[in-house]
Amino acid sequence: MSRPDPTAARQFAIEVVGRLRTAGFEALFAGGCVRDELLGNVPKDYDVATSATPEQIQEVFGRRQTLAIGASFGVITVLGGNRAGQIDVATFRQDAGYSDGRHPDAVRFTTAEQDALRRDFTINGLFWDPAERRVIDFVGGQEDLRRGILRAIGDPRQRISEDKLRMLRAVRFAARFDFQIDAATLAAIQAQARELPIVSAERIAAEMRHILTHASRARGVMLLYEAGLLEVALPEAAILQPELGIGAAEARLAWERTLRILQRLDRPTFAMALAALLRKIELLQPGMPRRLFDRWKLSTDEFEAVAKFLREELPIRQAKLMPWPELQRILIAPRVEELLGYCTAVAEECEDGMAEIDFCRAKLALPADAINPRPLITGEDLKRLGFSPGPGFRDLLEAVRDAQLEGRIATTEEALDLVKEQWPAR
Ligand code: ATP
Ligand code: MG
Repeated sequence: MSRPDPTAARQFAIEVVGRLRTAGFEALFAGGCVRDELLGNVPKDYDVATSATPEQIQEVFGRRQTLAIGASFGVITVLGGNRAGQIDVATFRQDAGYSDGRHPDAVRFTTAEQDALRRDFTINGLFWDPAERRVIDFVGGQEDLRRGILRAIGDPRQRISEDKLRMLRAVRFAARFDFQIDAATLAAIQAQARELPIVSAERIAAEMRHILTHASRARGVMLLYEAGLLEVALPEAAILQPELGIGAAEARLAWERTLRILQRLDRPTFAMALAALLRKIELLQPGMPRRLFDRWKLSTDEFEAVAKFLREELPIRQAKLMPWPELQRILIAPRVEELLGYCTAVAEECEDGMAEIDFCRAKLALPADAINPRPLITGEDLKRLGFSPGPGFRDLLEAVRDAQLEGRIATTEEALDLVKEQWPAR
């Protein structure tokens, strides 16, 4: 599905509000989209909150234009077509009881004010009335937006204890908008950071993904540390912290360097950012990517990418010293752009200069058959020479490949001669 067009999405949200109003219900833009517009940013999507119940929302828009996947907690999705995308319309609700530290036990339909009060942070608790072009603020969110403060709505200790995921959300929003976390909210997080593991691994990983791929990632990691969340989500990072791990001076340097490398990454994927975060820890405690793969349930693809970036950092940073067949195999493998992006940030921070990276880029700019020429022989050729597929077969092909890449042989004939000379067939 193509990404909706922001103008069409907004227009459609206004139309959704209009139709609910015409049918006699209250309806408002709610949450993140109001915050983003007040900050002058383009919202990722629009959410509408209304006094209509899920059934009434479905009556207004008709079954064909709605999806009821979230109906049990009061959300109906209204479909606006390719350009406008879809909008979640949620009944004003109040969450009743949080016994598991993550999910409300039940939801009750209620007023706009109560719906604002159940939301997590003041900047996320605003409504916008598109007809009267007016903010409706029950929680002091506008003032906090102006002052750059991330503050829990209501009693911070209680709000954090209801749902521990809010601890990571607080860091994510404070980093993203470069806001300060209000002192009482931060204290509530620090007091409950140990309980983060109540949140599912997938949700923790999803928040870490947001924090680490956003341009504010270095501050995000710093805030995780200050909030006491880093030592829970990534206890191995303690080794980089001055009070604990390696010698204090060395640890401080390693920690600061890690943050600066993170900051230098240019629009990184999650795997690139993880590699930057883990590289020093990995030196002291090998096996980090695997551990995070288990802990955060990363995809195999992502875990292998992190391990690969860490393994291939040195070959890239010393590219000119590398035997060409070895470097060539790294450069023609998938994710090479990410690898080079990651190594660029490291090289800048370590003041290597860019010569090695430029060398790799120059190789990558060569025509396809110069950097990756067709192999001179295949497994079929080996079979014809009397070799049978099995252990050693692949090594033999690779050895011939090395000779080709090094320029020692240039034709199929020469390749076959090499095989006959060095590995007499049985
Ligand atoms: P983003 O731009 O990252 O999507 P958002 O503010 O839209 O930010 P969502 O996770 O999409 O965040 O949630 C939409 C709204 O629902 C939030 O603005 C907030 O009001 C409310 N909300 C979401 N998660 C929670 C939570 N765990 N506790 C309380 N309120 C929440
Ligand atoms: Mg959202």
